[in-house]
Amino acid sequence: MNQIPDEKQAASAEKRKKKAQKNKMKNERLLNKVRKNRWWISFLMFFIIGSLSIVIFFSLMIGFFIYALNSRVGAEYEMISAMGKTYEHASSPEEGYAYLNEEGIEYIIEDSDGNIIHIEGEDTRAPESGVLNLDEDKKIIVYPDINNKVLYLSEDNEMDFSIRFLYDDKVKESGNTGINRISDDLELPIWISSDVKDGSEKLIAKSVIIVDHKDIYIVIAIVGGFCLLVLICFIIIIINMIRGIIHRKQVNTLIFVDRITMSHNQTWFRFRGEQLLKKKRNSRYNYAILECCFVKYRNYCIAHSVEDGEMVIRSIDEIIHESLTKHELSTHNGAAHFALLLRYGSDSDLGSRVDEMIRKLENIGNNQKFAFHIGIDKLPAMTDENGRLKRREDIDIEHEYNNACAAAATLDESDDSGIAYFNEQLVEEQKWLDIVQTNQYLALEKEEFVVYYQPKYDPRTNELKGAEALIRWNSPEYGFISPGRFIPIFEKNGFITEIDHYMITHVARDQKKWLDMGFSIVPVSVNVSRAHFIESDLAEQILKMVDDAGAPHDKIEIELTESAFFDDKKAMISTIKKLKSYGFSVSMDDFGAGYSSLNSLKDMPLDVLKLDAEFFRGDDDDTDRAEIVVSEAIHLAKNLNMKTVAEGVEIKDQVDFLAKQGCDMIQGYYFAKPMPGEDYVKRMTN
Ligand code: C2E
Ligand code: CA
Ligand code: CA
Repeated sequence: MNQIPDEKQAASAEKRKKKAQKNKMKNERLLNKVRKNRWWISFLMFFIIGSLSIVIFFSLMIGFFIYALNSRVGAEYEMISAMGKTYEHASSPEEGYAYLNEEGIEYIIEDSDGNIIHIEGEDTRAPESGVLNLDEDKKIIVYPDINNKVLYLSEDNEMDFSIRFLYDDKVKESGNTGINRISDDLELPIWISSDVKDGSEKLIAKSVIIVDHKDIYIVIAIVGGFCLLVLICFIIIIINMIRGIIHRKQVNTLIFVDRITMSHNQTWFRFRGEQLLKKKRNSRYNYAILECCFVKYRNYCIAHSVEDGEMVIRSIDEIIHESLTKHELSTHNGAAHFALLLRYGSDSDLGSRVDEMIRKLENIGNNQKFAFHIGIDKLPAMTDENGRLKRREDIDIEHEYNNACAAAATLDESDDSGIAYFNEQLVEEQKWLDIVQTNQYLALEKEEFVVYYQPKYDPRTNELKGAEALIRWNSPEYGFISPGRFIPIFEKNGFITEIDHYMITHVARDQKKWLDMGFSIVPVSVNVSRAHFIESDLAEQILKMVDDAGAPHDKIEIELTESAFFDDKKAMISTIKKLKSYGFSVSMDDFGAGYSSLNSLKDMPLDVLKLDAEFFRGDDDDTDRAEIVVSEAIHLAKNLNMKTVAEGVEIKDQVDFLAKQGCDMIQGYYFAKPMPGEDYVKRMTN
């Protein structure tokens, strides 16, 4: 028996849950990162930073150059001002001119109205004058030389320079541009004006700014070098970026592509689906998540080959894709499963589309008709109760797909194609399933399962002839629960074997107790599930349980349901024979409810035949036919030396009919409903 979960287990389960949640979030972040392929951001960043650094570098170079030029012009200006002082202090203008001539420069003396008073050399000034701001309060009036293509006036009349000379060969050539070359230097002529005689005259002298040619080459080298560096960096980064894109594509392929169909996989479906639904959250259309399962895929693979199976999977994928519109998605979701996100208008549209899809899918096998189970989870509608448009909440695709799978799982029993919708009832069922599975061991341990007895009477004498033990779950938390709500769950999860042991043990103990109390006990039948018959020592187990309780063997009957007869026939026959040899009787339950009962009767040496309650439930129109079948079944049993028990008999007419036909016992509400042991014991005679 499994261990009962204690506090420690609960704590560690909580811890595991938290860890799983954390891992899920971590995964999500990682996938998000991979998915958002933002290579262009780094490209843009690089482009901006690269251009900015080039601009800054050039600005700095130009600034530096202007500064150097200005400081040279400043020095020239100081010299011309000094010459102006000498001119000023001369006793006559002629003496002043003589001083100036000694300096060997070309110059012009203007009056305050701009009229030329004296000129030495040629006036090659550009017609407009400009201003050179050396510093805040020192503004020098300058005139570019008409032959000089480097220094010129900018639009706002300020002295500026062109960097053309760095590139323009013509400019570099001496002579025709006004730039003279002395060895490696560049000579840039400029006219500088200095006020003399308190501003009543101006001395405008031609000055030559000398730019060392080496400086230019150094500047060219630095700028060129820098540009080259930026270019190399740019190329390296571009190459890396391309490699990054390729790498990312490969990673994307690994993460987002399905190995069999080579189209997108479930991870992609989740991301894209959530994105799409977010984008369409105001759309007036409805959306549904579907699970489509190719039933018997594994069998197909065994009968053919895995490769053939995968080929079918690819065909299914293709057909599903063909039927999608551009607002819909689908993906192969491993093995035989496909996930779909469909958009639909009305429920009937959705239904007919899915029908159509199934029809196409069923016919992809050439001669073979395939079957598909489709689970549909309709996403919360976008209109509210009053029909108003509502924003769709964020959808967790995984959760919704799980719902679709849960819906599809309800079709598991069938091998035919089918559609199942997820609904609230399914939620309740799943919750109940969880409650049952969580509590089953504890309930067994606490003996919350109670044995009820339903008496069987002889219809001719109304004598108590036997009883069937039927389980009830009296749960302090969930109340009194009938077996229909938990037996099918136990049959699926295997816990039914524990229940069968429990019932046999308790019935045997009760029988022993009542016997000791002096009651004349009658045989009590106990249901044994088919799952139990897998165990080869089932008969020995039952024998031990009954012997441990000390009950007589002939007062215990084992009921087998018809469905149990499908398994290993040989093993069943052997178990039945063993049980009989120990003195137990064995009955076939629910005879007539299935379709192979006659065959089973042929092979199995059974003692009792229990006619299924369905025989007594039909319409009044069918009564005649039912009566023929029932009477024939009773005769058949008699001929096979078996006793008969009619189940579910509620009406006197039925009792009379069965009595006439020679039915041995009746177990039905007409005589008694299943009851607790205390009530049942009152029906026995001392
Ligand atoms: P079953 O073995 O066919 O049991 C007969 C069922 O028919 C019982 O339902 C019983 O209450 C009901 N019944 C009997 N007479 C009448 C009648 O006149 N009218 C109507 N409407 N119903 C009648 P119950 O107790 O709910 O059990 C349902 C099923 O649960 C059983 O069907 C059996 O398959 C399973 N089950 C019950 N107890 C056990 C158990 O201890 N072990 C196993 N393995 N299965 C059990
Ligand atoms: Ca039964
Ligand atoms: Ca039955």
